[in-house]
Amino acid sequence: MPVIEEKPQDEKLFRIRHSLAHVMAQAVQTLYPGTKLGFGPAIDDGFYYDFILPKTVSDTELPAIEAKMRDIIAAAQTFSHEDLPLDAALARIEGQMGEPFKAEYARELANKKGHREISFYANGGFVDMCEGPHVSNTSDIPADAFKLHALAGAYWRGDERNAMMTRIYGYAFNTKAELDEYVAAVEQAKQRDHRKLGQELRIYAIRDEIGKGLPLWLPNGAAIRHELEKLAHEMEFRAGYKKVATPHITRRGLFETSGHIPLYEDGMYPPMVLEEEGRGAGGPEESYYLKPMNCPHHHMVFASEKHSYRDLPLRYTEYGSVYRFERAGALQGLTRVRGMTMNDAHIYVTPEQLKEEFQAVMKLHERYYSLFGLTNYFMRLSLWDPADPKRGAKYVDDPENWALSERLVTEALEEMGANYKLSPGEAAFYGPKVDFQFITVTGREFTLSTNQLDFAVPPRFGLSYTDKDGKEKTPYCIHRAPMGTHERFIAFLIEHFGGAFPTWLAPVQVVIIPVSDKFLAYGKKIEALLREDLVRVELDTSSATMGKKIQEGATRKVPILLVVGGKEETEQTVTVRRYGIKEQKAMPLAGFVEMLSQEIKERRHV
Ligand code: ATP
Ligand code: ZN
Ligand code: ZN
Repeated sequence: MPVIEEKPQDEKLFRIRHSLAHVMAQAVQTLYPGTKLGFGPAIDDGFYYDFILPKTVSDTELPAIEAKMRDIIAAAQTFSHEDLPLDAALARIEGQMGEPFKAEYARELANKKGHREISFYANGGFVDMCEGPHVSNTSDIPADAFKLHALAGAYWRGDERNAMMTRIYGYAFNTKAELDEYVAAVEQAKQRDHRKLGQELRIYAIRDEIGKGLPLWLPNGAAIRHELEKLAHEMEFRAGYKKVATPHITRRGLFETSGHIPLYEDGMYPPMVLEEEGRGAGGPEESYYLKPMNCPHHHMVFASEKHSYRDLPLRYTEYGSVYRFERAGALQGLTRVRGMTMNDAHIYVTPEQLKEEFQAVMKLHERYYSLFGLTNYFMRLSLWDPADPKRGAKYVDDPENWALSERLVTEALEEMGANYKLSPGEAAFYGPKVDFQFITVTGREFTLSTNQLDFAVPPRFGLSYTDKDGKEKTPYCIHRAPMGTHERFIAFLIEHFGGAFPTWLAPVQVVIIPVSDKFLAYGKKIEALLREDLVRVELDTSSATMGKKIQEGATRKVPILLVVGGKEETEQTVTVRRYGIKEQKAMPLAGFVEMLSQEIKERRHV
């Protein structure tokens, strides 16, 4: 059943957060006279305010500001409202208040938005230019449910040509319990942050020498990628997909056909101009682009062979590398990068096959997620918006096909008994799509993957198959990427598992720890045995104490440590220590090898 998405709004909490911004500005101006004010809004988890401070303030001073804020709350000051005509308002802002940034904004409100009056709120001796709403009295603010937590630089109005201000952030909630819970979740998220763990566990590196958003995968990260690709290969092979491989760079014309140019050009790296190409052909110079998506290439694969209706559904899959020129400011660790490799596939179907295949893809998504133990997600069905005045620029103008494909996708979801949210107006330009929205450990929602229906692009590429009646017909295309990109998916998995991957996925699966050099030979024998079985195994030959070696294994979050000494060698056993489990267990070597290979093969989470 669909649910229309709407954001719950806690009006009271919004007032508290907004009022706290005022109270913080008031406290800061009391503690640091001469402070000038920028903007101070309520935000998702609290509030902030931007200041030009008369001196450098560091986070060691936040507790003093908080204390002053609590004094103001305890003083039970009433918020009073007043509208002043523009001239009087400017006189107040520039005179009594002495706030140049507020004056600039007041003038802008007058000139650009036609405000004839400016609204002010006052509490205690403090006056701010503001439209509200606030609590009625500072004593309505729960004094123990807020906390100042960060200082950052921010340009006035976000423009780097403007003055640099100091932004102070606070968390604010209705109750202390909610605040504590939130702070604990943020703390936990920091420990699990893939940028922190990615470095500590040596999974990836981003180097200035290479460029922004272009991660290097270190051996540990490459091992994880390998496992994901192996998993995709097995799942897709069994589901009847066929592997293809396509180049990274491509002539401009293909992206004109696909519609990327001009619609998406600013999301692409600028072209390489190959003069020689043009010269050799006697034509003009030729531009090549890094591909931002694999779809056009898979369409060209389809176009390179003749197809009959009997060949459909035809499923092309490729872990395809694409490059997108994401804004520098939007880049974030591995979750938003510029060079990425996508778990991509394009499925060509007849109209009759569409619904069933769409369902098969949904089920494939679910199989992947249950295998990883991911349950914290929901589906969002994005539809077009025929009422959108800009609909011509946003969507392919083909109401009939929109109606048909939206009906089929909706039926597909309903028949499966899926719970999903509706998101009108968020469709791709070529058709409706189902996004898989995941909730991270901090409670942030983001898109991990999509399943999209495309009725519009295959005809642009002139794709066709010969139908039963001998006529050439255009197939529909399903775009899907259950595991998204390696980059975003692995970032998510790092945080999901807190870096402690299940054995099948762990970069190093087993570390063998001989209790002394005397047992190195036995250790080597086990190492050779496991490596032969394709287990990612290491033998710890360092001179550290056994305790240190075990600790090192735990720090690296290696799922299995094998301790071997005299008793083990004589009895041909191993002592098994699993990550996060105190007890260790002795097992016959052969039995361990068998158990491990089953655990990995079945991708069991122990
Ligand atoms: P977004 O809205 O996040 O930019 P998109 O809608 O452009 O993504 P698609 O073209 O549908 O994404 O790509 C499929 C998947 O690729 C996404 O669901 C996401 O998991 C992943 N992805 C997209 N852009 C990036 C990126 N810049 N870095 C890492 N992964 C990405
Ligand atoms: Zn206000
Ligand atoms: Zn595609």
